[in-house]
Amino acid sequence: MAYNVFCYTSIHTLSVDELIANAAYIGTPGKGILAADESTGTIGKRLASINVENVETNRRALRELLFTTPGALQYLSGVILFEETLYQKTATGQPFVDVLKEGGVLPGIKVDKGTVELAGTNGETTTQGLDGLAQRCQQYYAAGALFAKWRAVLKIGPNEPSQLAINENANGLARYAIICQENGLVPIVEPEILIDGPHDINKSADVTERVLAAVYKALNDHHVLLEGTLLKPNMVTPGSDAPKVAPEVVAEYTVRALQRTMPPAVPAVVFLSGGQSEEEATLNLNAMNKLKTKKPWSLSFSFGRALQQSTLKSWAGKEENIPTAQAVFLSRCKANSEATLGTYQGGSALIDGASESLHVKDYKY
Ligand code: 13P
Repeated sequence: MAYNVFCYTSIHTLSVDELIANAAYIGTPGKGILAADESTGTIGKRLASINVENVETNRRALRELLFTTPGALQYLSGVILFEETLYQKTATGQPFVDVLKEGGVLPGIKVDKGTVELAGTNGETTTQGLDGLAQRCQQYYAAGALFAKWRAVLKIGPNEPSQLAINENANGLARYAIICQENGLVPIVEPEILIDGPHDINKSADVTERVLAAVYKALNDHHVLLEGTLLKPNMVTPGSDAPKVAPEVVAEYTVRALQRTMPPAVPAVVFLSGGQSEEEATLNLNAMNKLKTKKPWSLSFSFGRALQQSTLKSWAGKEENIPTAQAVFLSRCKANSEATLGTYQGGSALIDGASESLHVKDYKY
């Protein structure tokens, strides 16, 4: 199909096809993304929870455990890496990037540099990292990365998100997205609305729709090639301090918010888990894929906590626990793969803890 190249003159003509093909591949039904791009600080908190020291060898060991789990890569189309991991190797000397590519999994890279507060707001934030981003994208592409992630964070409060926070984060995501595309990387656009708070699901739906509408307006204004992007949103759920609702209700509200705001040109939605338990995130995704309604994009996962938590606990930093931890990781990957097809039957947890809330207030990645 011919794309309106007049609009996309800043994207190299050859890249257009590659961006579209890679974005579509990531959205292949039955596959999804493992978000293993925790910054050094964030992975340190995870390791501390199992009494493991936050040093390079331990970070590498955890990532090797995940990427070399026998049978797991068939359920994944992408893995998001932190910069350090992009250049790391297995204990036997094979670059992680090659392990992933051999398994049919595209390596991705977190390119944002975290959040800072917006002056005059009630703790709202903007995301940093645009300076020098083009050069970093070129280096990451040369190192094997094919897609990128940038996390913008919004929160729900009595007067939040403010219009300032919505506009600023939408514009930042759009600048990030076009810079990625100009340098060959598929941008994952992530406007995360935190689950924190006592609000009900209607409030979450209203805010999600307002934010996504602003994000797609900004992407359009910046001439981003939508076919070569992915959306990574929160699911529409009640706040963390409000009673939970059934997966079928989350599915209905979430898909409706997307129908109202997300162009069919975008090939796939890859949800974040946002502090839901492993089982909850999987059941909610499964319910969306079972829902009979208009869904012109594939609905998949890009989970961090909800793919790793019980694996981390099973591993506990001990070599002898690796096979058990890998079995736990495999079962979560398979469960989420089934959820992308709407065929998950539930109850795949191999150890206690899959139903445990993973919510962290004011979560930093
Ligand atoms: P969670 O699934 O743990 O929310 O993290 C996904 C992610 O990549 C956040 O940017």
